[in-house]
This record gives sequence, structure tokens and C-alpha cells, in this order.
Amino acid sequence: MNHTPKIYGNAENLRLIQNMKQHHRLPHACLFYGEKGSGRKTLAEYFAMTALCTEENAPCGECRNCRKILHKSHPDLIFPEHSGKKQGFSVETVRDVCQDALTAPNEADLKIYLFTDCDSISIPAQNTLLKLTEEPPEHVILVFTAEQKSAFLDTMLSRMIQIAVNPCTRQDCETALLAKGVSPEHAHNAVNACGGNIGLALQWLEDDTMQECTRQVIALTNAVFTRKHYQILSILHGYEKDRQKAMYFLKLVSLQFRDAMILKYQNPDDPAPVLAGCDRDSAQALSSILTASRAIQLQDAVRDACLAMESNVSTKLALAALGGRLL
Ligand SMILES: [Zn+2]
Repeated sequence: MNHTPKIYGNAENLRLIQNMKQHHRLPHACLFYGEKGSGRKTLAEYFAMTALCTEENAPCGECRNCRKILHKSHPDLIFPEHSGKKQGFSVETVRDVCQDALTAPNEADLKIYLFTDCDSISIPAQNTLLKLTEEPPEHVILVFTAEQKSAFLDTMLSRMIQIAVNPCTRQDCETALLAKGVSPEHAHNAVNACGGNIGLALQWLEDDTMQECTRQVIALTNAVFTRKHYQILSILHGYEKDRQKAMYFLKLVSLQFRDAMILKYQNPDDPAPVLAGCDRDSAQALSSILTASRAIQLQDAVRDACLAMESNVSTKLALAALGGRLL
């Protein structure tokens, strides 16, 4: 039985990693970046396993190194500790890594430091790491994961191979959830709400607040359809106090509006359109009253609200403006 972790989607990245290993061209520093839940850490660990695996068909999942990585007990795959309010890395932790990197690996031919979730890595911490990233000892590989590349200084980025991690298809996501023992109905609902982001879908299944968000998206779509002004405002009002939740909510709303537009303009002879929103019925209903300009207005209104919140306009203000434009 093969114990290597199953990676869904990202076929090109897997090929790239295997090619690097086969041609003995493993990079000394690399960054896996992509949205939360897209599988950055899983792919980074897959990379580490491929790098340390002693067999021809790496990662074999069977050799001593692979097995120790699977059991999270390999002394040469090191996860530097997060610290501080923002969960970055302290300069002290980074200094320890630089010191430790000078000593030979314990068991494998390589020593890999995996810095996960680097979005809050401070500039002093990066400056401390810079020399090691520029000229690491032969036996060292530094691996980073982050949501955005922009978390890093250009001087750091220029020394790393940068690998974009993509969420997989909805189909792959559903397969992954089923393989994890999620019931078909729950898997279906989670994929509807989260698209191809497996991490997000797993979180959604556990998180009542996120599920409530999906219900509210459907309620808002219906309220826009039936022109229930008070209801629109009251739903938006519920997100005023939590910017992150509001952003997540608006992302889902935007997908719903997009679906309504697709349903409106689909040609009956064409194959069924690929929808990304969380509820087809409410999108279909909304599509029946949309004109082209109204559809674009709705999309623009949601996009503007998101942009405003990203540039630190108060969530309350952004949502109030949005409410006005959805009426
Ligand atoms: Zn192996």
C-alpha cells in the first residue's frame, strides 16, 4: 500500500518537484504560496518528502525517511516555531535556525527547515535569514509557505523558487472530502460553498458560522430578487463587526451574482454552465429579473465594497454603501 499523501490537483507542481529530484536540481530555498486552505503546507511537505526519500520513485512513502516524515518524527525536517501576537518568527528563533543549519543532518543527506504561514514574517526576521538564504550550506533546504509572495522582501524572493499552489477542481475537492469519510451530501454542500479549496471545505464542515454565512448568502440573493429592502440591509448589518467574515460573505455573494448572470445569458443549446456559487435555485430566480446593466451593477457594487474594505474603509461604511446599491 502506498502511504504517500494524496495531493489533489496541482499536477504540474507535482511534476516539477519530481523532475527537480530526478535531475538532482533541488532548490536551496523555495516558497509555496496560495490562498488559505489550498494545500500549501501539504505540498511543501510532499516536496520535503521527495527531497529526503532514498528511493528511485520518490516520494515512495515506504523508506525510513518517508515513514518518519509521515509520522512527523524526522529529525531533519524541522518546523521553526511561530511566536508573538502576529504568529511570525522571532529573530531569536531565526538565529537558532541559522546556527543549527551549520551542523550536518542527523539521519538524511539533507536538512529541511519548513517555515509555515509566513504572512506575518517580520523584516528583522527576514534580514536575519537573508545570508542563510543566499548561501546555505550544501545540506540545507529552506522551505516557506505563505498566502502572498508580498510577505517577503525582494532580496529573499530573488533567492527562492516560487511555486503557486492552486485550489483544485470542484470534482477533485468532492473526491478528496469523500476519501476523508465525509458523507456525499455534506461533501456536496461544502463544495458548493467553498469551490475547489479542500482546506476551506473541511473548515466549513466544522464551522457553524461559515455554514450560517452560506445560508445568509442565499437569503440575500432571494432578498435582492424579491426587492425586500429591509431584509437586504438587515443581512448586511450582521457583518459590520467582523471584516474578515464580511469579506468571506461578499466573496460568496459575488459568486452567486456571477452565476445569476451566467444563467441569464446561457444558450439553451449549450452544455450546462459551470457554476461557482453556493446555491443554484436562488441564482436562477435572480437571473429571471436581471438586465445586463443591472447584473453588472450588482457585481460592481460587491467588488467596490470588497476593495473599500481591503483599503481599510470601515466595514460598516462599506456595507452601508453596498446596501444602497443592491436596492
Ligand atoms: Zn521514500
